[in-house]
Amino acid sequence: TFRAILVSRDEQKKQSVDVVVMAPDDLMDGDVDVAVEATTVNYKDGLAITGKAPVVRRWPLIPGIDLAGTVIRSTHADWKTGDKVVLNGWGVGETHYGAYAGRARLNGDWLVPLPERFSPKDAMAIGTAGYTAMLCVLALEKAGIGPDRGPVIVTGASGGVGSVATAILSKLGWHVIASTGRPDEAGWLTDLGAAEIIDRAELSEPGKPLAKERWAAGVDAVGSHTLANVLAATSYGGAVACCGLAQGMDLPASVAPFILRGVSLFGIDSVMAPKPRRLEAWRRLAQDLEPEKLRSIATEITFDGILDAARDIVDGKIRGRVVVDMT
Ligand code: NAP
Repeated sequence: TFRAILVSRDEQKKQSVDVVVMAPDDLMDGDVDVAVEATTVNYKDGLAITGKAPVVRRWPLIPGIDLAGTVIRSTHADWKTGDKVVLNGWGVGETHYGAYAGRARLNGDWLVPLPERFSPKDAMAIGTAGYTAMLCVLALEKAGIGPDRGPVIVTGASGGVGSVATAILSKLGWHVIASTGRPDEAGWLTDLGAAEIIDRAELSEPGKPLAKERWAAGVDAVGSHTLANVLAATSYGGAVACCGLAQGMDLPASVAPFILRGVSLFGIDSVMAPKPRRLEAWRRLAQDLEPEKLRSIATEITFDGILDAARDIVDGKIRGRVVVDMT
């Protein structure tokens, strides 16, 4: 048996969260069983556990969208007992039993090999947030936009996506402008590679359709007015990769940046991203994310700290990334 976090709903659709003891037979179908050695708490996991947004779409459910561990049973051709694997998304922790358990039973097609450079805890210090940051970087690169074009803005810079994006982009030679609501984290963001820090309040209120050109590219985890203002200040021919909604799901923008400055907006989804893109993102993470920066981004907790961390991330109180040691 193993411990698991289970979210349930009563007849009035009131959500509750319990720590339960489960047996392998209680798990959902899958062709690979993984001993969960590390997981993490993403913003989405916070939403699932607090019930603040409809992330959970199957009741009851073990939340947790990311895990790393070792295969302990497999009937899938690609995997054998002892393989080290990483899982990000694919509806795990939303519609399929997730990471907050000693064991996970998964579809082998969802798994990627743990890169040699990383331990399970390293991979979870990255997690969906960090892998999504890399998908954003790859989108900018595919558009042919590099550091020679000018600065890049990263919004929500103290958060999971933002801190990893800051570290990667600076390593790649970008002049990173980090937007944050936490001025006391300026030193930490500078150590991660930010060249400039701006107050997120500059971007979070309704702005003009076009503003002075300030950056050539953006990685936005915030949405709403922030994304609208990021687009409005993107220089001619630039591009923004958008992946999150920490401020809001709305996009109160105009077409002006697109039709007058040829700016592009790329949508980034990590959950259903096809396997080749995941493999590319993990290969690049192993190449372009310095281990000492990863250590400064991550805070370690254990299984017993997951529920508090879930509440804290939704309240904007988590800096960087949280790693859960499940061993
Ligand atoms: P996180 O660690 O909570 O980071 C979000 C950051 O956004 C916060 O640290 C904060 O940064 C900023 N923020 C929060 N509330 C804000 C507000 N009202 N106005 C402006 N900024 C605000 O979360 P995360 O795990 O990095 O995820 C970030 C977002 O990306 C979430 O919306 C998440 O759902 C989304 N996401 C999407 C995908 C995908 O596949 N598309 C994958 C991963 C994450 P500062 O304190 O520095 O201001």
